[in-house]
Amino acid sequence: MADAALFTTILIGTLAVASLLRWLLQPVQGKPGTRLDARGLLFFVPLLVLFFLGASREALAPVIGAVALYLFVAVTDVLETPPITRIAFVATVAVALTTQGVAIDTFKLPGTSIYYPLGWFSPVITAAWLLLCASLFGRAGSIPSVSFGIAALSGLTFYVVCWLVPWATGDTAPMLALAIAGVSLAQLLSCGQICGGAAGPSSYGMGLLIGSLAVTGALKHTASLVALLPLFVISVPLFGATFTYASGLREGWRGLHIGQRRRHLHELLLEQGYSQSQVFGVLIGVAAYMCALGILLVLLIAKPFWVKLLTLMFGISVGPFVFFVILRMLRHEPQPSLVGGPPAVNLFNVRLHAVTMDEALTIAESFIREGGPHMIVTSDTSSVVRAQDDEELRAIINEADLVTADGQGVIVAARLLNLPISARVSGVDMMERLCAIAARLGKPVYLLGAAPGVAREAADRLQDQYAGLLVAGCRDGYFSEDEEAEVVRDIQARRPAVLFVAMGIPKQEKWIKRHLEELGVPVCIGVGGSFDVIAGHVRRAPVWMRHWGLEWLYRTLQRPRRLPRLAALPRMFVMTLHSLLFNSERPETLPVEPDCTAKDRC
Ligand code: UDP
Repeated sequence: MADAALFTTILIGTLAVASLLRWLLQPVQGKPGTRLDARGLLFFVPLLVLFFLGASREALAPVIGAVALYLFVAVTDVLETPPITRIAFVATVAVALTTQGVAIDTFKLPGTSIYYPLGWFSPVITAAWLLLCASLFGRAGSIPSVSFGIAALSGLTFYVVCWLVPWATGDTAPMLALAIAGVSLAQLLSCGQICGGAAGPSSYGMGLLIGSLAVTGALKHTASLVALLPLFVISVPLFGATFTYASGLREGWRGLHIGQRRRHLHELLLEQGYSQSQVFGVLIGVAAYMCALGILLVLLIAKPFWVKLLTLMFGISVGPFVFFVILRMLRHEPQPSLVGGPPAVNLFNVRLHAVTMDEALTIAESFIREGGPHMIVTSDTSSVVRAQDDEELRAIINEADLVTADGQGVIVAARLLNLPISARVSGVDMMERLCAIAARLGKPVYLLGAAPGVAREAADRLQDQYAGLLVAGCRDGYFSEDEEAEVVRDIQARRPAVLFVAMGIPKQEKWIKRHLEELGVPVCIGVGGSFDVIAGHVRRAPVWMRHWGLEWLYRTLQRPRRLPRLAALPRMFVMTLHSLLFNSERPETLPVEPDCTAKDRC
């Protein structure tokens, strides 16, 4: 109860002071060149609360140290003094803290209950530890709110640990843990999830506080590991290296540069085009995972050393890969080097353009305006897989003027391989939107494919939907080889601007390619079963299923004879995994001009 009161007082007190400071310091913060980080001043709140509670020096000392470090960093930031001054200051604070009982003063041999006193070595190790914590948090402070989020999680984790093993953690640790959790949570809330500027100097103070907590009182013998774990998350090379390692695996061992290993996880993520809020979410997620792992280890405190070691090894080896997959699934902007025109990527020797629906339509519209034959392919999982064995299909896709990713399997594989393809551009959506463009431009379309009568029904529906849409002609997709010449002549005579061919993959692509030049239609596109969908013979998956990339499942349930096609999914998965782990070739990312055609590119 007393703990709850302490936590609430610190939380509310910090929130109140934060609001007041924000109001008072707004003009100062807005001034260019001013590096004042008002949030750092909020360390005074726990200081005052703890002071009035008559807390021990061991609890007060780290907060005073954190305030001092915050003020020092704020001043040296403005004066732009060399980093050595900060190191010297943290070392001084650390030595002062060791005299107040905040110190690593014994060393416990793993697997035993023997403690070795560290003697004169204690201040040196304490200083190194606090320096590490302060600088890691300081660096994480460049991402707004991350250091506060991680500090809040760490404080709460420590509190849970104190609650689980009160006999081993002493009186000071829970108080300090709550102070840290309260003040960080309040700072997080007072500036929203992601506040404007970086946390700046206050994150150094926060790091010092967390570091001190880990070596306070009895906690130093029990749960210092818990402090170590969240710190891994933000900077210690483990995560950054694992991330870089996993990304670099596709490039083979030579792809793992020493320099890259040293880079911090959040820097890598930002460089790879993830947004600040995605980085925030992922880092906090990883921190929460590590905190949970820490709590689990504390729960196993009485178990033999090897059990704890195995749990730790398992936790830190599985966790990063789970987060790696989550990360890759997140939508992120193309890497800066790819910006400036839709890039073409090579997914298992099949070329795809990294375009959104709007970009694809802009390109298609430019094809209509410029005239001349162009071919668009919407490539789904089955076509990418089929293209592995079907050389003709592969060549057709690779020579097409625009190839969009149409299929969740393709999107997932591309994201896992870090190819900048994140948007699904499906055939049926393309067809509807192209009809809207054709209607607007007053250009006719031609529908070729599906069972007799279906193309006409689809055309009628499209004409109802898009006022002014001109349908130059319709024809079913079940004609003999002998009739082919007549079909081509009919299309030539009616001169459509867009030819939709719905005869299924790969038949439609091969048919288009065979007649592309003689047809001379500005946009020829294979649209699979779209006529059946538009005509209402086949229902489209509900929006939520489309949103979650489950359209393939819905279509298979509707038409079970499509079941064999699902074999493409596990094959795509195996190919992706293989590429991720063993492929020594870098995936190609070729910048392509929007109006560049296959002929001048290839
Ligand atoms: N189809 C056609 N001629 C053929 C074979 C198929 O017109 O010789 C039509 C078929 O009636 C259907 C479409 O092509 O409307 C294929 O749809 P499916 O859903 O199988 O293709 P996907 O969208 O998966 O490529």
